[in-house]
Amino acid sequence: MANIYYESDINRAAIAERKVAILGYGSQGHAHALNLKESGVDVCVGLREGSGSVAKAEEAGLTVRSLSEASAWADVIMILLPDTDQAEVYQEHVAPNLKAGDALAFAHGFNIRFDLITPPEDVDVIMIAPKGPGHLVRRTYVEGGGVPCLIAVEQDPTGGAKDLALAYADGVGGARAGIIETTFTEECETDLFGEQVVLCGGVTELVRSAFDTLVDAGYQPEICYFECLHELKLIVDLMYEQGIGGMRYSVSDTAEYGDLTRGPRVIDDQVRVTMKKVLEEIQSGTFAEEWVAEAHSGRENFYALEEKGRQHRIEQVGSKLRAMMPWISAGKVSVQEASGGQG
Ligand code: NAD
Ligand code: MG
Repeated sequence: MANIYYESDINRAAIAERKVAILGYGSQGHAHALNLKESGVDVCVGLREGSGSVAKAEEAGLTVRSLSEASAWADVIMILLPDTDQAEVYQEHVAPNLKAGDALAFAHGFNIRFDLITPPEDVDVIMIAPKGPGHLVRRTYVEGGGVPCLIAVEQDPTGGAKDLALAYADGVGGARAGIIETTFTEECETDLFGEQVVLCGGVTELVRSAFDTLVDAGYQPEICYFECLHELKLIVDLMYEQGIGGMRYSVSDTAEYGDLTRGPRVIDDQVRVTMKKVLEEIQSGTFAEEWVAEAHSGRENFYALEEKGRQHRIEQVGSKLRAMMPWISAGKVSVQEASGGQG
């Protein structure tokens, strides 16, 4: 079993005397910067010249510097830029400003695991990866809670890298929920696998395939939407709160019998073989190579697939139905609003 760290395990002095630069003010960036600041950490935000996020971050009370100036000012540099842009920004703005004993931090192992960034040996290399989207990292912190965090140490020339990673994770609220130590490799590979197979890829394709099956069989699309997408949240909430067993206890015996006997037929051995192949593509670096090439060549395929997703009929039915249920998104700040969007 993993060792889990909570607030009483944290040496807060490990970050109290440091200067932290957060590069980027997107989903994770705005949450880290604001949470750290409110936890009393000396923090600034590093942004591109002319970035639309400058005003947003300054309005939130944060100090903003250019990417190079922020890197030079700080002794802890957290890179919260899109994974496919980090290497270029690192080369141009971060590397020239790294001093011995500085710490370079990431929220995802991608650039270190796949050797896109190779930091000098005299710099600590750490990861603090909240296990949730940025807007939740911010919202739960404001509410007095936190999102569980993974930390990892790749390089530790100062001998203080782990204490720093723990104190940083505490500063963003992670120690309230629990911090687990991992490696860049484990975090990166499990994170990519989870989002591809379950959280993003698996679940959206399961929902759409089931919706299509019902609509094609002649059932009313609105009913199919409620059944295959809307109700998913209720089931996931039960699993989140009480595990799979708790969910099964709450649903009817009929639902549970269908779950127990039909679930393994839908997610069958063939699907498990495919899952293993998807994992192998992650481990071998094939996925990373493909994605970096796609991102650097204009994202033609990415945008085409995104557009195809938008055209799926479940999106039209869904937006119509959600408009009639405004309470669903009431009080929830969208990531775009919170972070000022891309820029
Ligand atoms: P994001 O796309 O929401 O934000 C990226 C920020 O970088 C924006 O402020 C954008 O304007 C800026 N930016 C983009 N390209 C740039 C460039 N070339 N130069 C300078 N600035 C640029 O990114 P994110 O989702 O917050 O991801 C940041 C990191 O956090 C990634 O490593 C990601 O894997 C990791 N992470 C994200 C989440 C999440 O919930 N989104 C969760 C865990 C870890
Ligand atoms: Mg993830």
